[in-house]
Order: sequence, then structure tokens, then C-alpha cells
Amino acid sequence: MPTTLVPVSKNAAKFISTPKKMLINGEWVEAASGERKETRNPATGEVLTTFPEGGVEDIDRAVASARKAFEEGPWPKIKPNERAKLLLNLADLMEENCEELSHLETLDNGGPIGVTAAFVDLSVNNLRYFAGWATKVTGETIPVSNPGNVFNYTRREPLGVIGGITPWNGPLYMAILKLSAPLATGNTVVLNPASLTPLTALRLGELVQEAGFPDGVVNIVTGSGSKAGARLSEHPDVDKITFTGSTAVGKQIIQASAGNVKKVSLELGGKSAHIIFADANYEQALENAANAVFFNSGQACIAGSRLFVENKIYDQFMSDLADYAEKNFTIGNGFDQSAMMGPLISAKQKDQVLGYIDIGQKEGGEVLFGGDATESEFANGHFVKPTVLANITNDMTIAREEIFGPVVSGMPFKDIDEVIKLANQSIYGLGGGISTTNLSKAHRVAHGLRTGNIWINTYNLLDPATPYGGFKQSGLGRENGKTAIDMLTEEKSIWVNLD
Ligand code: NAD
Repeated sequence: MPTTLVPVSKNAAKFISTPKKMLINGEWVEAASGERKETRNPATGEVLTTFPEGGVEDIDRAVASARKAFEEGPWPKIKPNERAKLLLNLADLMEENCEELSHLETLDNGGPIGVTAAFVDLSVNNLRYFAGWATKVTGETIPVSNPGNVFNYTRREPLGVIGGITPWNGPLYMAILKLSAPLATGNTVVLNPASLTPLTALRLGELVQEAGFPDGVVNIVTGSGSKAGARLSEHPDVDKITFTGSTAVGKQIIQASAGNVKKVSLELGGKSAHIIFADANYEQALENAANAVFFNSGQACIAGSRLFVENKIYDQFMSDLADYAEKNFTIGNGFDQSAMMGPLISAKQKDQVLGYIDIGQKEGGEVLFGGDATESEFANGHFVKPTVLANITNDMTIAREEIFGPVVSGMPFKDIDEVIKLANQSIYGLGGGISTTNLSKAHRVAHGLRTGNIWINTYNLLDPATPYGGFKQSGLGRENGKTAIDMLTEEKSIWVNLD
């Protein structure tokens, strides 16, 4: 039966009908080199439009513009409640343009339109949350014990110019994370979005202008990580890099930042353990286990890709998970409303995922479902079926390395102590899931896991009020919540002699 696709919205179609430019100092410009790049639809392989391939010179111009905006204004004179209003304006504009933003995202990164629309909602909520913070960034008065009549207080001041670098797996939401808290705290921003998915960041640039932000406060420079991203990370006039991406690139950013001792926040890779106890609510655990790893086609840093299932129910659970994946996670074009999983981002990503499945089988794993996407209707897209592997041990390659695709590795365990030990045997520590109806067991395991985010009898929940980040090689620092405010401001201590 031919698939019926939801038509691409008129506004999204109009946006991609022209070659795009990038935003520096309030102007839409070409790259200094004049080079352009194509962005393609991962579901069909078709070229969507082209955009500037920014490099060193463009980043330098953008940083200069962000520095000027930070120091000369009008930005530094804008009162906190006016900054809040600008963020709220942007949130309202995103809400009004939700369909266009969601369709652009689906065209560019392939996610089902229901998922990309949910990411727009999450982004709108994030802006509104941090708009609230703009008027609440306070210092303290400190009761010092020095002799004499002295007084000490602190101020929280913006860091300055923030460089934001984002990946392709949730492009709009990631871009918002690099704007919301930094702008709420009075910083200015240079954003370098992933070259595979630049469209929503560029549309966001238009909305930033419409919202009324002064020129230079937000600059969006497209261009590859190896040139534009690398220059931003090493730039002597950037005060902080907030990066989301792989652990390998995160390490390069730490090195590049050393030159001017930049502050760095890193949201990196993961290999999260999802632990299913035999006493769990079985149906709920099955649904959570599947959603934890197949959401966004497994291209999620928090994907619950290592599934630990208690011995007693292991065989049955793995078999039911394979059936669940087959019945519920239909793959398809993101504009097909029956599709639960879109394509992977690129041919390279598809090859990487299929390569890991192959290695998994060679090392002794058994594919219970998936492993490929051979249907001819998917031939031009980068699709891989949800894949369930059993007979995996924690030391196998696919249990250790981040696959970033819809692949789950099932492993049995016997008791709490063993599973905590197994789950923690990873260089990563980003997410983790626990399914059990025993309250004390749930908390004991949650406290034992060396990971930044844990979901008990649920998975994938995020909220702007909740700090988000990783232990170990999954990151440095936190985004969201009050912690983000602290990480985007400098604390200044001021002494006063009252005599
Ligand atoms: P990536 O590290 O390859 O690229 C991320 C960004 O870094 C891109 O914009 C890229 O252009 C840029 N970049 C590449 N080389 C650079 C360099 N030398 N200097 C500066 N910037 C450079 O990651 P990806 O493939 O785009 O995304 C997938 C990875 O991101 C996965 O590891 C995933 O777990 C991680 N991720 C983490 C989170 C989180 O919140 N922890 C969220 C989403 C994705």
C-alpha cells in the first residue's frame, strides 16, 4: 500500500526554496570564502537547500560582533525584566511557527513530525523557564568575621561571549539550550550548528530578530566543526564554550579551550544501562525499555542501549521486546503519521550502526529482531530497523561503545549488587533506567549508579527546571535548572570598609 505523507507546510517549503545565509551582527551574510554546502533529507537523499560554509574569518567576525554587543550595548543596559520579555517574545514566536519549525526539522534530520513538534514544545518551555530566571539572578551578603567594620557581598555577572556548538540529533532543542540560559543571564552568543542539520537554527535566527534582540547578541555561523567549531573553541575572545556532541570532540574542545582558560560545559556521549527487575510492572517495563532505546531512532545520548534483565525473566522479556519492536516501531518517512521511527541522519551513520550489529553478531550476539532495513521503499533513505540483540556480555564491543542507532543489547543479571557493578562498568555515565515495584530497591540502585540522570519506572523525561548532564566521560557541568545559571555567571566578591 503506498504511504500517504503529510504535506510539507507552505512556510517550510518556502524557507527551503531559497539558498540560506548565516546571521552575523544582525545581517544575513555569505561565508567570507563564498563556499556553500548542501543539506539533504535523510529519508529520501534529496537536496533540500544550500547554506554558507563558514570558517575562521566568519567566526572571528561573529565573535567580534558578540563582544561589541556584550560591552557596548544596548544589551548590557537592558534591564533583566526586558531580557525576560525578549525571551518570552521568542518563545511565543516559536509557538506560533511550531508547524514550520517541526517540518523543517523533519526534512533536515528525519524525525517523525510528532517528535519534532514535541521538541518545539520542549524548546518553548525552556525559553519560558529561563525567562523567569532573568529577574532572579542574585548575589549574597556574607557574614564575614574580619576585625573592623567591613562588609562583603557577591554579585553574579554574565561571563561574556558564549560559543555554542550543537549536534544533529535534536538540532532545534540543542540550539535553544545554547541560547536560553546564556541570554537570560546577560551573555551574548555565537552558535555553530551541526552541518548536517542547519535549517532550524537558521530559521531560529530570523525569529530572534523578530523577537527584538539587538544586533550581535545572537550570531549563527554555519560551517563544519573542524573549521568553524574548532576556531570558536580556541578563540581568545570567547569566554565559554557550551558543547553538545561526542566525547571524542569534547576532549578536543577541552584542549582548544586551554589557550585563554575558557569555561567549558560538555554534554557528551552515553551508553546508558536500563535495569529490569523481575518484580517490575511487566508491560510498563517493556514499553519503557523500547522507548528508552528506539526513541529518535536510537540517536539519543541517553538511549538505554544496555538492557540488564533479571535472570528469571530474561529469555521471555527479550523475546517480548523483539515482538514489541516489530509491532510498534514501524520505520518510515517522518511525514508518514504511522511511522514511529525515522531514518538515521546519514549514510555514514547507517553504515556505522550496521557495522556495530555485524560486530555484535561476530562476537556471539543473536539478533532477535531487526538488523537491517531491506525494503525497497527505503532504498534511498538511511533506515535501520529497531534491532534487539541477545547473548551479549558487558565486555563486548557493542556493550561498551556508543552506537547511536536503534540497537539494544540484552544482558542477564542475578541480583542488585551484580547489576550495579555491571551497569557502572562503562566510561560513560549519562542516563539510566530502573524498572521495579520495590521502592527501596529502586532507590538503592539509583544511588549506586554513577550516572547523571536516572528514571525509575519511566524514561526520557526532561524538564528545564531539572539539571541535566553526565558523570565520567559523559560530560562536564550541567545544563538546565539553577545550576545552568551558576555555570553561565561569574561570582564576584566585593569588600567594603564602612568606617
Ligand atoms: P560530534 O561530536 O561529531 O559533533 C558535534 C558538533 O561538534 C557538530 O556541530 C560538529 O560540527 C562539531 N565539531 C566537530 N569537530 C569539532 C572540533 N574539532 N571542534 C569544535 N567543534 C567540532 O557529534 P555528533 O555526531 O554531531 O552527535 C552525536 C554525539 O553527540 C553522540 O556522541 C551523542 O551522545 C552526543 N550527544 C550528547 C548529548 C548530551 O546531552 N549529552 C545530546 C545529544 C548528543
